[in-house]
Amino acid sequence: MTENGSIADGNQHNFVHDIVRRDLAAGSTETVVTRFPPEPNGYLHIGHAKSICLNFGIARDFGGRCHLRFDDTNPTREAQEYIDAIEADVRWLGFDWGEHRYFASSHFERLYEWAEHLIGSGKAYVDDQTADTIRLHRGTLTTPGTDSPFRGRSVPENLDLFRRMRAGEFPDGSRVLRARIDMASGNINLRDPVLYRILHAPHPRTGTEWCIYPTYDFAHGQSDSIEGVTHSICTLEFEDHRPLYDWLLDNLPTPTRSRQYEFARLNLSHTVLSKRRLSRLVDEGHVDDWDDPRLPTLRGLRRRGYPPEAIRDFARRIGVTKRDNTVEFAMLEHCAREVLNRTAERRMAVLRPLKLVIENYPPDQVEHLDAVNNPEDAGAGARAVPFARELFIERDDFMEDPPRKFFRLAPGREVRLRYAYFVTCREAVRDATGTIVELRCTYDPETRGGNAPDGRKVKATLHWVSARHARPADVHLYGPLFLEADPGRDGDAFDHLNPQSREVLHDCQVEPAVADLMPGTTVQFERQGYFCLDRSSGPDRLMLNRTVALRDTWAKVARRN
Ligand code: ATP
Ligand code: MG
Repeated sequence: MTENGSIADGNQHNFVHDIVRRDLAAGSTETVVTRFPPEPNGYLHIGHAKSICLNFGIARDFGGRCHLRFDDTNPTREAQEYIDAIEADVRWLGFDWGEHRYFASSHFERLYEWAEHLIGSGKAYVDDQTADTIRLHRGTLTTPGTDSPFRGRSVPENLDLFRRMRAGEFPDGSRVLRARIDMASGNINLRDPVLYRILHAPHPRTGTEWCIYPTYDFAHGQSDSIEGVTHSICTLEFEDHRPLYDWLLDNLPTPTRSRQYEFARLNLSHTVLSKRRLSRLVDEGHVDDWDDPRLPTLRGLRRRGYPPEAIRDFARRIGVTKRDNTVEFAMLEHCAREVLNRTAERRMAVLRPLKLVIENYPPDQVEHLDAVNNPEDAGAGARAVPFARELFIERDDFMEDPPRKFFRLAPGREVRLRYAYFVTCREAVRDATGTIVELRCTYDPETRGGNAPDGRKVKATLHWVSARHARPADVHLYGPLFLEADPGRDGDAFDHLNPQSREVLHDCQVEPAVADLMPGTTVQFERQGYFCLDRSSGPDRLMLNRTVALRDTWAKVARRN
């Protein structure tokens, strides 16, 4: 595998690779050209990442190129903001389109000429029916459609009307241009599909130059052809559009011939992957914004602390097939753990602090103990962690009356403090309400570094921070956004929203070195998981998002259901 996650040696066996390999061997393709064609009407999500990795991966594996093409044919929903965000997200994921950034809108003039060409050859006509009427007369899977009364218009009349549509003479929705194919076709997409509609709306790129816009079907294959795309890879819902894709290329003087291939889109458990539903989550305030760490958007995952390598690795593992299925969110988390275990530096942080006082440790003494940054990466070095008489440990790491299998701290019991000393708990101090507020302990100065010269063993090693040196932090823990694995299966997905998808911990204490991290850095808090310093983090108040716990917690979620 290459550094950026694609299979460079070509031995991945997904069916698209097989097709490309076959075409190259047969000589029908000289250089493979693919494209990733987002509509700039929202932010990219992990489903798009599957498509990005496939398209850019194929290009790289076979020495070709992949274009970034904005499918911007619907100006009412599209915006420059999305164009910029999509570019940034594709780059972040580790892919580069070089000079090959295109817009369907850059091809508008040529598409228009081709529409006139179709009219000229009697294969398109202007229809004055409303969208509703057209839909009504399209027929069903079992009954043929009905011809429009305008189907028989002459070429000159059609040309005249189409030119006047372009000139802005007609209001929105009053006319469309349709292909004249076959109203009785078994494929509804071939029942005189709409090619152009009137829309007096400014476009993010072409401004007010146009008031007619091509449909997806009329723009996509032709854009592929103009750009010399050889393999146009899209998701299965476009399979039924392929005959139309081919019909248009057969009937237009397009420069090159591309082929469409379809694969199954990614479905991920416990979340939704459609821009419509994602925007609803944002608009209704179920999440804060498009980069809320609970969202499966690339921005959300990034803010949550996912490295792009983990997402590429995920895309590689799930593979590419023609059968729809749902991938467990746990798989994505597994990929994050794998990468982060290798790359993330370790730090210590106490999420639910309990004070621990070492009675026999000199009050003013501070030691700086060596802590390795990453046991998986010798090059990551070590750092000094301050140790003093008053520490915080995790509240969960102490039990006054422990059950048999609890090996951590308890009255009279000795444990190791990571990188530091053995300590023994002498007493738990309570406040007036009976809550334990402090542990009084003693330490063995002979055990510096965490080993006893007499060889005696302890059963637990706890993480800790020095109370005096620690920095306060807010830590956000995330659970699944939806409690159902397939929230959209029956009824409204939003009925299955998890009301507790975020837990905010306000009184966390982290070791001082955490404050030196750049926002966006993900570290492992020892024994807990991976945490990413949030962009909202400031010098006075650190803020971290839990990327993923150290161990799989989905078994617990499943039990709760
Ligand atoms: P959404 O349903 O989220 O709005 P879309 O298909 O409308 O997605 P586009 O911007 O049109 O979004 O998609 C760009 C490309 O990404 C298309 O080729 C599309 O097939 C692909 N894509 C979108 N969602 C997924 C997914 N869940 N899995 C794989 N590929 C996807
Ligand atoms: Mg779409």
